Amino acid sequence: MPESHKDTSCDLFVIGAGSGGVRASRVAASLGAKVIVAEGLYLGGTCVNVGCVPKKLYVYGSEFGKAFKDAAGFGWQVGEAAFDWATLRDNKSREIGRLNSIYERLLDGSGATTLDGMARLIDAHTVEVNGIQYQADKILLATGSWPTKPDFPGNEHAITSNEIFDLESFPERLLVIGGGYIATEFAGIFNGLGSQVTQLYRGDLFMRGFDDDIRSFAAEEIRKTGVDLRFNTNIESLTPVNDGYEARLTDGSTLVVDTVLCATGRHPNIKGLGLEHTKVTLDSRGYVKADAQFQTDEPSIFALGDMTGGPQLTPVAIAQAMAFAHTHFGNDSKVMDYEFIPTAVFCQPNIGTVGLTEEAARDLGLELQIFKSDFRPMKHTLSGRDERTLMKLIVDKSTDRVIGLHMVGPDAGEICQGMAVAMKAGATKAHFDSTVGIHPTAAEEFVTMRTPSS
Ligand code: NDP
Repeated sequence: MPESHKDTSCDLFVIGAGSGGVRASRVAASLGAKVIVAEGLYLGGTCVNVGCVPKKLYVYGSEFGKAFKDAAGFGWQVGEAAFDWATLRDNKSREIGRLNSIYERLLDGSGATTLDGMARLIDAHTVEVNGIQYQADKILLATGSWPTKPDFPGNEHAITSNEIFDLESFPERLLVIGGGYIATEFAGIFNGLGSQVTQLYRGDLFMRGFDDDIRSFAAEEIRKTGVDLRFNTNIESLTPVNDGYEARLTDGSTLVVDTVLCATGRHPNIKGLGLEHTKVTLDSRGYVKADAQFQTDEPSIFALGDMTGGPQLTPVAIAQAMAFAHTHFGNDSKVMDYEFIPTAVFCQPNIGTVGLTEEAARDLGLELQIFKSDFRPMKHTLSGRDERTLMKLIVDKSTDRVIGLHMVGPDAGEICQGMAVAMKAGATKAHFDSTVGIHPTAAEEFVTMRTPSS
């Protein structure tokens, strides 16, 4: 049945119901805007369906293996542990289904209209979904990003993070290509669950962009857990063989595995979006160009989140969405602040970071004081696990401000979140020194480092 003009016009049409799109829709609707949001794949986007949420559940699942072994030193006798992939995978899917319905209810409750279908731009104010055209005063693009695979013969046999969550059978032998967030997190997950994992990184040291001390310390700790982490190596080709896939590597060696995961970056998800019917332009890396108020080169079209080339992090997209909705529908201009965005990599052990790396701080010409602490976590004095923690503070000597805080160790994500508040509030090293520690914790080390290492 054709919809009435009233139903097909709105103040804001949001394309994509992921982290950014859902938040922008809900907040704009709560501020009185008539909002329509279209999603062609899954409510909640990458984060909820094939990203942060299922990934963290799998990290929890994979940590049990080590915990069972640790328990022996504390007097527990745990029988032979056995892992069942189908149970973890299906329980995860049930939880994601529950979250999808919550997202649906939240959108409905906010008053926004949700459309199930791929949206395509027709012009600066018109969007088409399932053959129906909608008129909007403003359009927000929030279609996120999509994983990419490098170009090599046989790459059609490799999978991405979109597929790895729902593998039919457990990969006893897994090859991971890449040295960033996703590669390192999944290498840890499957290693913990019992796979034989090889991770390849094309450069000298993985986790580019993180502090160099953190990168090399994490590499050492990850290797101790059993991941075969190889640098200066890449995949050359992939061929199906009798018992899996044979990967030929750039160092001339070969490897037979069950599954190959390419975790080699995510590109803006703009295919079929119809940008060519508008004045929206892309930057030199292919991301949608938008200004500080999220406006693209087409004045009625806005964009935020992964597709715009900033930090590809859910909380960034959410914060941008809040700023967008308040600025454009709440008469309350908000500018997104990108300083001291904390982040964690849920590899095992975790990496957590806030602010500048030592290398970036030195590039700014700042005179620095560096504090480092490298220790064996208390728990492992009895568990016997060979794992160490590294904490590092970077202080601007002229202001005494802590401008970088980094950690490799359990719960780094949890610890760095709190530290980020202090750093955003302008905490100096003197503030850290005058803060009383919580004993015995690992986090107290951040307030007890007194002697600079350089
Ligand atoms: P990243 O950009 O983090 O890492 C991509 C990796 O792939 C890099 O090591 C890169 O190497 C390598 N690479 C790129 N192209 C090739 C190629 N042709 N051949 C071999 N290696 C290649 O991307 P991810 O895919 O891991 O994740 C995407 C983004 O998602 C992250 O940047 C992050 O913002 C977000 N994310 C955040 C998480 C969190 O908050 N915990 C978890 C997962 C993802 P090089 O360094 O040499 O370029």
